[in-house]
Amino acid sequence: MSAGPPILQKDPRASYLAHRAEIDAAIRGVLEGGRYILGEQVAAFERELAAFVGVAEGVGVASGTDALELSLRALGIGAGDAVFTVSHTAVATAAAIERSGAVPVLVDIDEATLTMDPQSLEDAVKKVAGDRAVARPRAVVPVHLYGHPADMPAILDVARRHDLRVVEDCAQSHGARLDGRATGGWGDTAAFSFYPTKNLGAVGDGGMLLTADPTVAGRARALREYGWRERYVSDVPGLNSRLDELQAAILRVKLRHLEADNARLRALAGAYDRALADAPVQRPARRPGVEHAYHQYVVRTPQRDGLQRWLRDRGIGTAVHYPQPVHRQPAYAGRTPLVVSLPRTETAVREILSLPLYPELAEAAVARVAEAVRSWTPDGG
Ligand SMILES: *Cc1c(COP(=O)(O)O)cnc(C)c1O
Repeated sequence: MSAGPPILQKDPRASYLAHRAEIDAAIRGVLEGGRYILGEQVAAFERELAAFVGVAEGVGVASGTDALELSLRALGIGAGDAVFTVSHTAVATAAAIERSGAVPVLVDIDEATLTMDPQSLEDAVKKVAGDRAVARPRAVVPVHLYGHPADMPAILDVARRHDLRVVEDCAQSHGARLDGRATGGWGDTAAFSFYPTKNLGAVGDGGMLLTADPTVAGRARALREYGWRERYVSDVPGLNSRLDELQAAILRVKLRHLEADNARLRALAGAYDRALADAPVQRPARRPGVEHAYHQYVVRTPQRDGLQRWLRDRGIGTAVHYPQPVHRQPAYAGRTPLVVSLPRTETAVREILSLPLYPELAEAAVARVAEAVRSWTPDGG
């Protein structure tokens, strides 16, 4: 067992320190500029992230959850509509669907990538379509979980055949690509989160809706500010969900480093892959054509809790994303339509463990984590 200082699972402070001079200058610029909400920093960041993803429009909002909710509302989805997503996700995904007024319908995941299984989606859409008592199938929210893109060609095929709008949950996939196309560039809209530990993280809350459709973007811009058509004239009942200038200025700095940060994450994930090749855990899968953003490096073992304790005793921080699927959460249990059981989801949540991973993590730390995993014995440990 290699002793050493504690290793954090995520370390947003390290990201600040890595870009400190640029971030400090950006903050000072905003403070001295005197415009603090929806100003030139937000407008520039909207353009820059949209260009990075390869779509026309960006709408800065207060969180990733709001970006999902406003996506659905701007697409005209609400009460009486069914929106399909996975149960294996941040509860925010389902919460945003409910806040739009729609009913979340939860489907199972693919065994290898732990992202939405297109066949489970198809089955659920057919069931809902055959039982209009539940709701009308209107949209699907695939989640690019852990930075691995969902199977977008297959999901878009189901969506096309059943006339579903597609809202990508990109909260964990900034910079991930599938067949050369960025996540966020596949659906009708995409929702990004800038929660501090995400690949592109603010120093507070923030989010953005991206879309190629200027009409949808215009609706979202109105909705984020009281439904204003023009100042003080509300066309529709909206809300207050604005991105502030400080976060936008900091995020513009971090966006310039995102590709290099993601390359570093891929290098560290490769180091984990090699060092864990003969370890008693299952390593994360990566499908052909995928440029992974490695928001998390997630291993699997049926004796997950034992491994987590073993690592904690050695000063190594880990996390479980997420310990309960949405349909087992107290807030949702028993009232998510159609869910009898989601077997692959339920097995996965018992086995997953997110190892330490962030761009500033040292190779030596990765080696120490991998060594600790290799020295663990599932039954005796
Ligand atoms: C973080 C996250 C969200 C929510 O983003 P917030 O900015 O925290 O509201 C939604 N979906 C997924 C998959 C996430 O990881």
